[in-house]
Amino acid sequence: MKVTDITVHILQAPLSEPFHWAIGEATARASAIVEITTDTGLVGWGECFGPAGPAAAMIEAYKPWLIDADPLASEKIWQDLYAAFRDQGQKGVPICAISGIDIALWDIRGKHFDAPIHQLMGGPLRREVKAYATGTYRKRSGDPLEYICDEVAGYAAEGFSAVKLKIGFEVREDAALIRAVRKVIGTDIGLMLDANHGYDAVDAIKLGKMVQDLDIGWFEEPVAPEDLDGYCAIKAAIDIPLAGGECEYTRFGFREILRRRAIDYLQPDTAAAGGLSECKKIADMANAFGVRYVPHVWGSGIGLAAALQLLAVLPHNPPGRRPWEPLLEFDRSEHPFRQAIMRDPIEHSGGIVRIPDGPGLGIEIDRNALENFKI
Ligand code: CA
Repeated sequence: MKVTDITVHILQAPLSEPFHWAIGEATARASAIVEITTDTGLVGWGECFGPAGPAAAMIEAYKPWLIDADPLASEKIWQDLYAAFRDQGQKGVPICAISGIDIALWDIRGKHFDAPIHQLMGGPLRREVKAYATGTYRKRSGDPLEYICDEVAGYAAEGFSAVKLKIGFEVREDAALIRAVRKVIGTDIGLMLDANHGYDAVDAIKLGKMVQDLDIGWFEEPVAPEDLDGYCAIKAAIDIPLAGGECEYTRFGFREILRRRAIDYLQPDTAAAGGLSECKKIADMANAFGVRYVPHVWGSGIGLAAALQLLAVLPHNPPGRRPWEPLLEFDRSEHPFRQAIMRDPIEHSGGIVRIPDGPGLGIEIDRNALENFKI
């Protein structure tokens, strides 16, 4: 089998209402969807997290290494692509591009062997996962104390066992909102915080001390991803576990985080940190360091499907009769094509998501929908 072509479909759709978080605002959702075709007629799908245009340009640059390559030799291809731009491309968009390619190659491998990816990776260790609701973004107008409390009440009513709250704006206001949300959802539902690196260590510690009595599951991206000393200082100062890693890349990037034990919940994005091949390696490294792994997910149904295949094979950590189980990040914010491009959308039932067990990623792409969102 040989790769005959690789196409990037840039999809984009405006939002009915813009939303923002600590460091940015979305007025549209966009994604670089990767399609790899082969001489056997098998097609693989992947997705790159991050800016779609630059990822598409990087994939164009990787093309000479892909055309005529054996798509089953995905480990060799990963090494070739990484080596091609190693000197200038160890993090960021070049690795996001490799991620989309690697996911598509795994999709082809699964279809070739008529097996789900997780089976070819030696799983499954689990056939379904608990999902936590990601949302609570800010609107341009209205009182967050009102509309966010309404939103989380909705997630609780849907059956989610945990929700994640966006903070990172102003410490006192954030603390008041966290307290209000905890009151709305009660003590049986997990509550995590995500500052999207909107604080520095001073404010992150101040906020942490104000809310650490509220049984917070984790405090995500308290400070800038480059500030590992900041993470370590916050960890030493407050009684809330730290999460992060959606802005880190490859086993080489995560090595330092693990070595310094800067993060308690590692969150590589499968569509950014190096794809399924690399994220399995990062997960095994995390396991060796005794660190929990919860994939970051914020893309279309393709990125979601890739995360689910990985979740199926994440090692138990810690080992034991009732090990802690990894969670699925289930983005509830508006995304016009997240599910529209899927023939069978991935949905939750009472906060539980079944891991697709069809060949490859276990999904089928609706080409008409794909064309509708293409720019
Ligand atoms: Ca996040």
